[in-house]
Amino acid sequence: MKIMVSACLAGLNCKYNGGNNRNEIVLSLMAENDVITICPEEMGGLPTPRVPAEIKDGVVTARDGRVVDAMFRDGARKCLEVALREKPDLIVLQSRSPSCGVKQRYDGSFSGKLVDGSGVTAELLISHGFRVVDVEELPSLMAALCRLT
Ligand code: SF4
Repeated sequence: MKIMVSACLAGLNCKYNGGNNRNEIVLSLMAENDVITICPEEMGGLPTPRVPAEIKDGVVTARDGRVVDAMFRDGARKCLEVALREKPDLIVLQSRSPSCGVKQRYDGSFSGKLVDGSGVTAELLISHGFRVVDVEELPSLMAALCRLT
């Protein structure tokens, strides 16, 4: 199976603070499948580390007030190009990110409040019909697959 994953889940230090979101289930999937890693924010030209950003009134804005929407959307388009070329069977993305979040994201107030909705990359990939899951859904997805085999 071909799987596309958020690079921070694979242990790459591309998170806004220079760290990662290494995930053991993702690492086990990487051992058994053909995996492509993407970091839309780095692909959009943002540095690491970088000022964190959230989506405020539909516009990606950094905590220092700079509008960084164009870079986030450029990264999303580049990820879509990769997905259209590679045709992954499954895409696993990091939770709550303004790029990668699938089900929820922060509300733009930088207060830790969450709202329903996706990050800009997840939204673009979903709108093009790709099967996109939040990494937090992986345990139940894996359990369901085990029951089928
Ligand atoms: S943009 Fe996505 S892949 Fe990159 S650090 Fe943020 S959550 Fe991880």
